[in-house]
Amino acid sequence: MIITKEKPLEEIYASIADCKRVLFVGCDGCTQPPRGLKEAETLAKLIEMKAKMEGKPIETGFTTIVKQCCDESVGNLRVQLNDYDGMVSLACGVGVQILNKVYPEIWTRPAQDTMFIGSEEIRQGPMYEMCLACGECILEETGGICPVARCAKGLLNGPCGGCVEGKCELPMEVNGEMVKNDCAWYLIYHRAKELNRLDLFRKYRPPKKRTLAMNPRRL
Ligand code: SF4
Ligand code: SF4
Repeated sequence: MIITKEKPLEEIYASIADCKRVLFVGCDGCTQPPRGLKEAETLAKLIEMKAKMEGKPIETGFTTIVKQCCDESVGNLRVQLNDYDGMVSLACGVGVQILNKVYPEIWTRPAQDTMFIGSEEIRQGPMYEMCLACGECILEETGGICPVARCAKGLLNGPCGGCVEGKCELPMEVNGEMVKNDCAWYLIYHRAKELNRLDLFRKYRPPKKRTLAMNPRRL
């Protein structure tokens, strides 16, 4: 799932300062956390209230579409555009770019910061980066644990010397706290052992074809 984080209201408001009528567009695709009709309405109302308080009223509308990462789905929005002079997309960065491409006459701004492709343990719980879309998946060799995304150094052939008691030497900041992640290669080792496939752990993996992950990509 593509993980995004809501931008601060101030930031969204500042980005549409030049607009008089703004349409807030949700996305029902791989939304997480949900960013559909209800969320588009809430954001539209908050912006409307803020604009009123600032003495520079903005008229808002809200809607949602099946998935913003598809030109065809986005095409259905045309009938609702009326005379909006700005749009705010609650989708990921792909959705924002597709709206700008299909409706170049209306500048669409993002309501979300797109963070990573990840997973969650419980709905709306913490999110974990799981895949960097490298274009050459090796999960069959690593017991289903991705070293490209989950090892801080992206190592392909076992752990570095910084793994201490199963934790990575490179902590990361989460909500203002420094958190120690599990070392990806520690996890891979134990998974391989569990599968009785320690041969996978010992196998040499050549460097990846970085060209497959070079952007911009086209498939
Ligand atoms: S190996 Fe590449 S494609 Fe497979 S999970 Fe990791 S980053 Fe994603
Ligand atoms: S400690 Fe483990 S996860 Fe951290 S950089 Fe080294 S091998 Fe990668």
